[in-house]
Amino acid sequence: MAKDFVVKNAWLEMAEEEKEEIYFFSNEYAKFITENKTEREFTKSSIKLLKASGFKSLDKIDKLKAGDRVYCVNRERQIVVAVIGEKELTEGLRIIGTHIDSPRLDLKPNPLYEDGEMAMLSSHYYGGIKKYQWVTIPLALHGVVVKEDGSKVEINIGESEDDPVFYISDLLPHLGKEQMQKKMSEAITGEQLNIVIGSIPVNDDEEEDKKIKQAILNLLSEKYNIDGEDFVSADLEIVPAFKCKDVGFDRGLLGGYGHDDRVCSYTALQAIMDIDKPEYTAIVLLVDKEEIGSMGSTGMKSRFFENVVAEMIALYYTEYSDLLLRRVLHNSEALSGDVNAAYDPDFTEVYAKNNSAYISKGIVLTKYTGSRGKSGSSEATAEFLAKIRSIFNKAGVLWQVGELGKVDKGGGGTIAQFLANYSMDVLDAGPAIISMHSPYELVSKVDVYNTYLAYAVFMEK
Ligand code: MN
Ligand code: MN
Repeated sequence: MAKDFVVKNAWLEMAEEEKEEIYFFSNEYAKFITENKTEREFTKSSIKLLKASGFKSLDKIDKLKAGDRVYCVNRERQIVVAVIGEKELTEGLRIIGTHIDSPRLDLKPNPLYEDGEMAMLSSHYYGGIKKYQWVTIPLALHGVVVKEDGSKVEINIGESEDDPVFYISDLLPHLGKEQMQKKMSEAITGEQLNIVIGSIPVNDDEEEDKKIKQAILNLLSEKYNIDGEDFVSADLEIVPAFKCKDVGFDRGLLGGYGHDDRVCSYTALQAIMDIDKPEYTAIVLLVDKEEIGSMGSTGMKSRFFENVVAEMIALYYTEYSDLLLRRVLHNSEALSGDVNAAYDPDFTEVYAKNNSAYISKGIVLTKYTGSRGKSGSSEATAEFLAKIRSIFNKAGVLWQVGELGKVDKGGGGTIAQFLANYSMDVLDAGPAIISMHSPYELVSKVDVYNTYLAYAVFMEK
C-alpha cells in the first residue's frame, strides 16, 4: 500500500518520560516569557543565560575557532549568538532567525494628560492588533526612560503581586447602542486606547487645575526621578499584565502574551545553549521590529547581522574580505522561526482543512507566506524542504505543514525574505498558535517542545 501523508496528534507519539520533559520545559518557558515581555527584557535575560552557558561577548575575543561560544548585542534589543563549527565558516552557517518584539501599545512622546478626574497616558499601537481586545484588561508598563545625561531609568510596573495595574476603558452596554452597530475595526479607535494611571489630586491650594496630572508628575519625580519632558526620550510599552499559565483541565496548552515570537526565540536560545561542537557554525539571530516590517537599526532589514558575520570572518580568518562574507552567507541555511495560525474550530471558514496547521501536531513547516498570489513570500525550495523533512524524520522531530489560512483570506510575512536576500536557503518553521496577536495567545506544550527539538537538530546537522 502506498504511504499517505497523515499527521497524528503529537501527544500520541510521546513516551511518558518525554511528557515529563515537555512539562518541565514548558514551565521554564512560561516563567521566562512572564518575566520578559519586551525586546529589551528578552535581550537582557538572554545575555544572562548565555553567559551562564559559557558564551562570551564577541568584542572580547581575539581569535575565533571551532567550539567557541559567542554573542553580539545591538542596542539592547537584538542579539546574534554563535557556536563555531568544525567546518570552515565559508561552508556556511546554520541559522535560526526569529523576532523578540510582540504587538503592544507604545506611549506617545507627550502622553500625560488629565480628563474626567483621571490622569491618562495616550498610546500609539505597535504591530497588528485588534484594538477592541485591549480594553478592560489589566495592563502593565514596561520600558526605559533615558534622561538627558544618558542615564537610564528602567520601568516594570504591574507584574508583581502587590503592583498596581493600568487600564483602558470601554463603553458600558447601557450607552453602547451606537457603538455596537459599528464595525469591529471601528468600535474602539486608536485614539481611544488611553490608559488610566491615576485619580487622586494633589492637595495644594496654589494649583488651580490639572491637580491629578500634577500629583502623577510629583509621584513620577519622587519614585523614578522622571519629569514630563523625559517621556520624549523613552521606550515605554503597555503590555497585558497576565502571567503565562497552563490552559485546560489536562494542562496541555499555554496561554500567554507574545508567544509570537518569544516561543521561537526561547526555543532557539535553549537549542543553541545545548550545542557543544556542531559541524557547521550554529547561529541564533534574535531581532526586533518584525511586527512593524523589520525596519530600523535593530530590525532584520538593518545590516547588523551582516556586520557581525563580517566581524566573525575577521576573527576566524587572518583577514576579512567581502568575497568571504558573500560565500559564508550564500552557503548558509536558515530556519525562520515564526509562528503560524492554528486551525480554530470557532472560525473554520478561513482555514483550508488539509493545508492548515493544527494545535499539537508538531512544528509547522511553512513553505511560503505572503498574500493573494503568494505576494511578498520568499518561498522555500523543494530541495530545502526535502532536506529538512529528512533531518526531522531521522531525528524523530514531529512536524506538520500549514498555510496561513485559505487562499485570498488574508496573509502575512516573516523575516524569511530578508535572510533569503543573502541567497541562502530559508524555510519558515515554528509552532501553530490560536488567537495570534491577541493579548493572550494559546500554544500547545508538545509543539513548543518539538520546536526546540527541531531547532536543535537543524543546528547540529
Ligand atoms: Mn506576529
Ligand atoms: Mn512572529
